[in-house]
Amino acid sequence: MITQVLGYPRIGAKRELKKACEAYWAGNITEDELFEVGQTIKKSNWEIQQQQAINWIPSNDFSFYDQVLDLSLTVGAIPKRYQVLIDNRVSKTDLYFAMARGYQKNGHDIIAMEMTKWLDTNYHYIVPEFTKNQEFHLFSSKIIDEFLEAKEQGIITKPVLIGPVTYLWLGKEKEEGFNRIDLLKKLLPVYLNILTVLQEAGAKNIQFDEPILGLDITKKEKAALQETYACFAAHFPQLNIILTTYFEGLEDNLELAKQLPVNVLHVDLVRAPKQLDAILNDFPSDKKLSLGVVDGRNIWKNDFSKSLNFISTAKAKVGAENIIIAPSCSLLHVPFDLDQEDDEQTLPQELKNWLAFAKQKVQEVATLAKLAAENPSEEIIQAFEKNKIAIESRKTSTKIHQPAVKNRVLAITNADAERENPFAIRQQKQEKALHLPLFPTTTIGSFPQTPEVRRLRFQFKKENISKEVYENQLKVDISDAIKWQEEIGLDVLVHGEFERNDMVEYFGEQLNGFAFTKYGWVQSYGSRGVKPPIIFGDVSRPKPMTVAWTALAQSFTKKEVKGMLTGPITILQWSFVRDDQPRKTTAEQIALAIRDEVEDLEKAGINIIQIDEPAIREGLPLRKNDWQTYLDWAVNAFKLSAAVAKDETQIHTHMCYSEFNEIIESIAAMDADVITIETSRSQMELLEVFSDFKYPNEIGPGVYDIHSPRVPSEKEMEILIDKAVALLSPRQLWVNPDCGLKTRKWEETKAALLAMVNAAKKARKKYTTVEA
Ligand code: GLN
Ligand code: ZN
Repeated sequence: MITQVLGYPRIGAKRELKKACEAYWAGNITEDELFEVGQTIKKSNWEIQQQQAINWIPSNDFSFYDQVLDLSLTVGAIPKRYQVLIDNRVSKTDLYFAMARGYQKNGHDIIAMEMTKWLDTNYHYIVPEFTKNQEFHLFSSKIIDEFLEAKEQGIITKPVLIGPVTYLWLGKEKEEGFNRIDLLKKLLPVYLNILTVLQEAGAKNIQFDEPILGLDITKKEKAALQETYACFAAHFPQLNIILTTYFEGLEDNLELAKQLPVNVLHVDLVRAPKQLDAILNDFPSDKKLSLGVVDGRNIWKNDFSKSLNFISTAKAKVGAENIIIAPSCSLLHVPFDLDQEDDEQTLPQELKNWLAFAKQKVQEVATLAKLAAENPSEEIIQAFEKNKIAIESRKTSTKIHQPAVKNRVLAITNADAERENPFAIRQQKQEKALHLPLFPTTTIGSFPQTPEVRRLRFQFKKENISKEVYENQLKVDISDAIKWQEEIGLDVLVHGEFERNDMVEYFGEQLNGFAFTKYGWVQSYGSRGVKPPIIFGDVSRPKPMTVAWTALAQSFTKKEVKGMLTGPITILQWSFVRDDQPRKTTAEQIALAIRDEVEDLEKAGINIIQIDEPAIREGLPLRKNDWQTYLDWAVNAFKLSAAVAKDETQIHTHMCYSEFNEIIESIAAMDADVITIETSRSQMELLEVFSDFKYPNEIGPGVYDIHSPRVPSEKEMEILIDKAVALLSPRQLWVNPDCGLKTRKWEETKAALLAMVNAAKKARKKYTTVEA
């Protein structure tokens, strides 16, 4: 049986790529040195796959920044503003990084291209920009160079390209009056050009990624897919064209996918296992089927028995010679190598035995192929036995399964997710309890994470300083922060989150059911990585997580201090989650843990509690049909975490970088007393939907863009408040920044917040008279 890998992580086992890129940007290494690091990573990636005798090993899956940007450079889709760099003979590498990161050098100030999420992952790609008269031409030869590089190493790789239709779909029209899919006619010749050169260089297999086959697509897009693959088949009858789909089932695009004149169709059986029967039904005899059975999006060890079931079902229908075994998608989304996790403290052996990272997944693919063959060797049969034991131990481990947690989830009632009274009544009670002015001012939680604060946490973690020293310093920091907030006249204060490294990690570290890795990095964008926690077991809260610091902050002031929690959906979204129970169940377990924290904060005298849910929108499924189901359980999980609060306790939530247009009903259904959102960069445009919807609860539209070091003037913020007043009633409105201030410096923060408070005071005067 043939095996293939769709893509391999490229950041390097020890994040060598990050270090090299950042050194190059800082001018500390040369271009050649940067390329050398790239070559070493590629070489090692290919070797890992070669060792497992993978048949179709990918190339061009490496990237110094992003594979979509690579393609834009390859097909010469370079926005006009960078032309000056080409004219000035800036190197292709610098042009490439300029497109990714902007260019401020030699008197130029050119902004970067936009970045957005790659389908439903946490990976961000650089959005191609298209104009009406867009032209394409072969500009960068990266894909060819990489093929030759591997060939020199003795490996005939399978070059990987994002399919032309998905590529156009991923981009954005930068002017009116055309549909980017219509650019296909101009784009195809460049693809043909690439294929010609690759074929001449000796390539036999080419992979085209068309994940849009898993989405709701238009007739036009379907026709474009047909045109594209008919064109490739006509021009390159000798090439083995592999078409991949992933992250979703084919559903209504299945017939189209079957018809396309490609040689191999790859499907994701991890995300959409149920589609296999429909796929096998009348599967065209001129095609091979690639079974994506090893999860490329998560870190769990493959269940060989389950995968073998898929394989034998497929084998019975289409024959072993027509089957390819593969991971569900590129392995870009999982960490590099589990073998590196050598610290029993961080990741105990028992847990490790349930996991597989990229390197292990390649091995799983190879083993599955051998297991599915006629006479597997003794060694392979033993591997299967070991796999069965590991899978079984995960099913029954007492580390994972906590009957008390499961029972608590089963006992959840509808009433548990509802506050005592509707918002209108709560609002009155809160007004009486809290005595807040019109346009109350607050911040979103974090204050600047100075090098001193980071060092303090680091020293404590390394056990270089005692708990006492650590906590005393935090006390000072919190007390200073409270004093300063009082001085400038903020109304609702925060403790500053100095003890938190990350808003998910901080909670994960204190909850049962979470594990962490030392080297489990996954690329987020460019040189940036994330190290998501692993939710492996039933989640519960052994003891309060934030109460001590919040209560301490409250003890320093008569003003209200807002407790600060991360919501269940955000914790879920930013972690590797269990695959042995629905996401909904895990969300409920986390929600109950947060609920306990809300209750304890309240008991400790905290009257305002914020539950951050910045990731709620990004959890939306790829297909619209699935949206409502997700939104229902996500909203419910949030409400479950909040609804334990008394009417008098004010529940806030916060969301950033979100468009709310399509989900406003669900946002309202969350029923937070106050929601703070990011609106300053859009000049309150994002607030319009709240006004159109007649959003009933209170809302704090951000008036201070915290993503830039720039300090906004009082006047600017006044204007933004005026804009908000034009959309919503003054009684509903809060005044706050767009998001937390942890990335800012104190100097900027102080100046900006003082101006913000003054702007709110002006608004108070202006609109009190109007109200009266
Ligand atoms: N409370 C968090 C903070 O202020 C919120 C961060 C976020 O929305 N991403 O840092
Ligand atoms: Zn935010």
